[in-house]
Amino acid sequence: MLPGLELKTVSVLLPIPTDGAYSYGVPEGLELNPGDYVQVPLGNRVVAAVVWDKQENSVDPKKLRNVISKFDCPPMKQEMRKFIEWIAGYTVSHPGMVLKMVLRVPTALEPEAPMQGLKFTGTQPERLTPARKQVMKFANQDLSWTKSGLAHAAGVTASVVDGLTKQGVMETIKLPSQPLFPKPDANYGTVELTADQQEKADTLREIVKKGQSGATLLEGITGSGKTEVYFEALAECFAQGKQALVLLPEIALTSSFLERFENRFGARPAEWHSELAPRAREKTWRQITAGELHIVAGARSSLFLPFKNLGLIIVDEEHDLAYKQEDRVFYNARDMAVVRGQLEGFPVVLCSATPAIETRVNAQLDRYAYLKLDSRYGDAILPELDVIDMRKHPPARGKFLSPVILKAVEETIERKEQALLFLNRRGYAPLTLCRVCGHRFECKNCSAWLVEHRFRKTLQCHHCGDSHPTPEACPECGTLDHLVACGPGVERLGEEIVEAFPDAKTIILSSDMAGGMKRMRFELDAIAKGEADIIIGTQLVAKGHNFPLMTLVGVVDADLGLSNGDPRAAERTFQLLHQVTGRAGRAGGKSQGLLQSYQPENPVIAAIKAADTEAFYEREIDARRLSSLPPFGRLAAIIISGQDRRETELFARALRQACPISKEVRVLGPAEAPLALVRGRYRFRLLIHAPRNFAVQNWLRAWFKEGPKPRGNIRVQTDIDPQSFV
Ligand code: ADP
Ligand code: ZN
Repeated sequence: MLPGLELKTVSVLLPIPTDGAYSYGVPEGLELNPGDYVQVPLGNRVVAAVVWDKQENSVDPKKLRNVISKFDCPPMKQEMRKFIEWIAGYTVSHPGMVLKMVLRVPTALEPEAPMQGLKFTGTQPERLTPARKQVMKFANQDLSWTKSGLAHAAGVTASVVDGLTKQGVMETIKLPSQPLFPKPDANYGTVELTADQQEKADTLREIVKKGQSGATLLEGITGSGKTEVYFEALAECFAQGKQALVLLPEIALTSSFLERFENRFGARPAEWHSELAPRAREKTWRQITAGELHIVAGARSSLFLPFKNLGLIIVDEEHDLAYKQEDRVFYNARDMAVVRGQLEGFPVVLCSATPAIETRVNAQLDRYAYLKLDSRYGDAILPELDVIDMRKHPPARGKFLSPVILKAVEETIERKEQALLFLNRRGYAPLTLCRVCGHRFECKNCSAWLVEHRFRKTLQCHHCGDSHPTPEACPECGTLDHLVACGPGVERLGEEIVEAFPDAKTIILSSDMAGGMKRMRFELDAIAKGEADIIIGTQLVAKGHNFPLMTLVGVVDADLGLSNGDPRAAERTFQLLHQVTGRAGRAGGKSQGLLQSYQPENPVIAAIKAADTEAFYEREIDARRLSSLPPFGRLAAIIISGQDRRETELFARALRQACPISKEVRVLGPAEAPLALVRGRYRFRLLIHAPRNFAVQNWLRAWFKEGPKPRGNIRVQTDIDPQSFV
């Protein structure tokens, strides 16, 4: 090659579903290094991408298209690039699709448009009108102003300020960007910890101080002060000058967390979730990369933020299903947080009152450090739990609440305390049918019943969102006014409660509430202040809220999650019911949890009633061990879907046929998925069961490479460590 004509190439990872990075040429004068954010041509588009590594000229640069430009922003750290590759490897996804989750806000790669400010130059105005005189009073200081700020302060119109700028009295300057939130102050609002809390907090502080990678399980019953304890770990992290991330399952709803944080540290955390406004999102992303923001409280997607100097991740309610993404890249943010900590060399703390079985086993086997808080803070005692045998105490005809629960509600509101009735079913009724011909209303696109929402007067599919006005006549036989609602939803329960307690203030909380998350936050705050007597809610109310006046929690259908054939049903039910009943009695005094059940002898229900967490874990862990289920074995699911049922099934069978033979692995299926039709796509599932140390990802890759390739609208999705089996 001629000297001076050195052509360089780089490999660039693009946010698209391909196997690896693409090669691009580097235009003269552009210096590129791994991690640089760049713009590259792709077909007739221009996309934001990341330089993955430098390449010696293995490809003829003349055949390549050139990188267009480099963004003026800090490069992606090497650890982050490793993290992307790790996740792609583990989840059997394209690295580009993982990168896509990091590049959610491409506009944030551009430098922030600077705010224009004005500053006095020292030149006096030519003609001093009263308005100008007014402006000079304020301008004549060693301060920079925004135009509207100055006009406002002087009580004049902006054009007066413009006039002065034109004369050279004021000059425009760039104002420096301001951090969205000030740095947390570790000593702002310290609380006195109990001896037990202090001991755990000290251990965490030590771990953070050493910057030790590895996970710690912080387990403690609801109200034991886990949050107070991990605040100490955060304080240490800030003292080390590092950034921290707190993952929360329902961040959009957890204004109480933000407030508590502010009370402790004197500043609010930055939020990261889907409800964030685009401008705030951009600014937040930039300031995280620049290291100007010190703490983020976020949903699972915040795990992909390119922190400059992350020193700690807390995963609150680590068992929560909200951490599992089941779309495109199927990942569990809790597990991937532990991985990120390992790659970047910082600790991760997992918190829960009811840890996932996997986490509990990891802690018991010393793979994770294990800290446990055994009592509630102060005089708060756990609610007394009782199971109502619904066979002995049936509800009135067409109703769903037993006389026992109704009496308990009555007594609670008489004492001016709050009662929560928990039912994990949105809408009025889960099934509607015609009394005359038996016609059932079913979704056309999904194998699911349409759920009646009486308040909105619609029949709705909870899988695809399809919604129809509730008809007056049966579409099958045409009979008028003979449709019946079967089973309860929260709206119907609301009706029953209002009938029984017409003078009480009753509120129904579910994700259907008009006004979205904002309204929901508002209502949750109102409830916490005591502005409702009876609360009826789906699992949204179960998550981490603190209702000081709540002394009764009634679970309307404790059996609901137990009978669906899901291997994790017992664990889920235990966690959910434990969490729901844990809402009661957090402020001290006597409280009660009542569980309506038609199978009180079921071991899960019995364990909850006995408040015997250990017995539950022992039983469940033993059962998992015996059948080599996670974490003693591995599961992976393959979901094959397509628009034509027969074609999809044939493809699923052909794929199954092509699977590599291994004595260690069992492949089950293809079976029609329990949710056999979603959004017009037919679904089949394969389940892979392998020993714990079997490299299932390599095996899957070999299979997909050799096996038939999906064509047309057929799609194959891989779910490693599946949490849901529908
Ligand atoms: P958890 O996260 O384990 O459910 P929290 O940290 O929310 O428990 O604590 C439950 C309640 O007890 C909160 O209102 C909290 O402010 C209070 N609390 C816990 N520990 C202390 C403490 N050492 N001093 C004062 N209040 C505390
Ligand atoms: Zn549907």
